[in-house]
Amino acid sequence: VLTADLRAAAELLRTATDVTLLGHVNPDADALGSALALALALRKLGATVRVSFGPPAEVPESLRGLDTAGLVVPASEVPAAPELLVALDTGSAARLGWLADRVGTSGHVLVVDHHASNTGFGTHNVVDETAEATAVLVLALVDELGVPLDQDIARCLYAGLMTDTSSFRRATAATHRTAARLVEAGAEPTVIARELMDGHPFAWLPMLARVLGRAELEPAAAGGHGLVHTAVTLDDMAGVRLEEVESVVDILRTTSEAEVALVIKEMAPGEWSGSLRAKSAVDVRVVAVGMGGGGHRLAAGFTTTGTAADVVARVREMLRECPVLAPHTPLTRYRS
Ligand code: 5GP
Ligand code: MN
Ligand code: MN
Repeated sequence: VLTADLRAAAELLRTATDVTLLGHVNPDADALGSALALALALRKLGATVRVSFGPPAEVPESLRGLDTAGLVVPASEVPAAPELLVALDTGSAARLGWLADRVGTSGHVLVVDHHASNTGFGTHNVVDETAEATAVLVLALVDELGVPLDQDIARCLYAGLMTDTSSFRRATAATHRTAARLVEAGAEPTVIARELMDGHPFAWLPMLARVLGRAELEPAAAGGHGLVHTAVTLDDMAGVRLEEVESVVDILRTTSEAEVALVIKEMAPGEWSGSLRAKSAVDVRVVAVGMGGGGHRLAAGFTTTGTAADVVARVREMLRECPVLAPHTPLTRYRS
């Protein structure tokens, strides 16, 4: 990240008295953890802070342990014209969902993000696509502000770092040094991993059995590489949280015969949210963009309409055209 951008952002944050921090729609641990960590640091400097997002209206259950200070407010309580808006882990204004209009009504907008597709929609932008998580950029900002880490800040940043590196599968020596700093400041890896990853209710298992039972493997679909895919229908989702549904792609992507994994989730009748994952050789962001979405090289997504078979057929077609990369591109280029 550019030192000049970091300095300008810290200057803006240091002088703000009221700060609204937002994560992307369906926030993950990196979006919410980054927003909460920066909010906690700014509160220590005396600012009034609030964190929000939407949809959904409520904090996903697995992430509730991050908001120890009760800083999250419903989207309806976000001021119409915030003094300073900070958008975290969000590649474009549209990804702020219900709160996208605040980009136009805020005094200043600071964007802190690591998506390669970031549109630079802030008046100030701290955007670094080589950062493995937005949490890493927030840590740099907290350091620049001179706020010492405490356990609550460290927990939130560790949660984002752990999940965006897929539990340190995509880690460098620097990633582990950052993690070590956060653990020394009080983040508890065992507790955080259990809350964020190992907290599925029993209803997860029958849902998985149905959804994985209909998974299909197409050995030569993705530019000669394998594609594994399945669909999660509204029926499958009855009685389970979105967290359970989102875990399906993490299981599918471990299939050794497939370079690419695709899970389509029916969010409303005929409306699908797609999750794409690649191991290393296919840039699935290109496919996601072709489907009207975006994301990163190895983890991308989109929203579209049609029948399940239609959606899979369109993805298959786009995968055929997709550039195939060298299989061992450096690890620092991988993130989700
Ligand atoms: P997931 O599959 O976990 O929902 O999303 C993986 C990544 O794809 C996210 O980090 C995000 O960058 C991107 N992504 C997912 N859905 C969408 C979408 O509908 N639009 C855009 N622009 N990006 C998406
Ligand atoms: Mn995210
Ligand atoms: Mn992220």
